[in-house]
Amino acid sequence: MVWVNNMYVLISHVLTHAVLGSILAYLLNNGFQNKRMQNFPMLIYGAMIAISPDFFKYFLSSLISLSHSILFSLFLGLVFAMITRKKTFSKQFGIAVAIIWGAHLVPDSLEHGVPFFYPFHDAEISFDVLLLGDPWFLFPLVISLGTMFFQPTQKRVVSVFLTLAIVYLGVREVDKQMLLYQIKNQFNLTPEASIEVIPSAENLIRPLFPLDWFEWKYSVYSEQRVIIGQAFLLGRFPPPQLNAIYLSKNPLIKHDSFTYRSTQKEERQHKVLVEKEFQGKHYIAAKHEDKTTIFVFSPADNTWYEMDKVEGDMLKYLITK
Ligand SMILES: [Zn+2]
Repeated sequence: MVWVNNMYVLISHVLTHAVLGSILAYLLNNGFQNKRMQNFPMLIYGAMIAISPDFFKYFLSSLISLSHSILFSLFLGLVFAMITRKKTFSKQFGIAVAIIWGAHLVPDSLEHGVPFFYPFHDAEISFDVLLLGDPWFLFPLVISLGTMFFQPTQKRVVSVFLTLAIVYLGVREVDKQMLLYQIKNQFNLTPEASIEVIPSAENLIRPLFPLDWFEWKYSVYSEQRVIIGQAFLLGRFPPPQLNAIYLSKNPLIKHDSFTYRSTQKEERQHKVLVEKEFQGKHYIAAKHEDKTTIFVFSPADNTWYEMDKVEGDMLKYLITK
């Protein structure tokens, strides 16, 4: 049921923006002093502002960069505030709306690249730490929203659940840094290697199953190696799905959001069977794609060399566990 999954991911993404907008409107108003229903319009208004930048993105695709830059966000927020509150517009209100509009970029940048400084600077900034539909992040926010609706004076409850969502974000970031460190050590990478750890949208097979959102996808591109695999938040780090080594060095091509290793025609990859430390040196035993021969590589001067002769004992040591 791919469409159910896609719908869920899309709806929870929009919902996350909306709920954050409501919470921000509530906090900028310093909570609500009364329990009446009259607070509702402000929560709805906050949610609307928070999802507006994506309307600009979808309906005016040429404005993708504009709609997601700080400068234009603040400007558009201010214009929106003036249009929707012609008579009772105040400076304070305009600033609040501009902040909520601009704050849309923050959760976006947790998930994908955002051109914050467009048009002065084209580069996109991305923290790649959270998919916005993540229920572990969204659930505490929804409780905050429920509190604002049903117990509007309980500002502390709203803050506590907002904090929980932020703590979850912190845990993810720390885990990501630990994983980067672990990958660097495990594969004995050369300094030019590019390591990426991202929340794995493409592996989200069952988004309604909350534990799936704990999966990271990691990829390593270096001049001689390509490694791709999955890891689990706070723990499981299974062997990579792809672990390949090449005989020749080829330069890395880096873009804003991804890196790859340029390949030469006819170049065959060697599938890594095992890599181990042996007498202080790192060795890789790898099998050629279409042969049964096992090659052994060892590094020197940041390059992996295929060894001419491998003593029987060492090969045995490498390929037996
Ligand atoms: Zn957006």
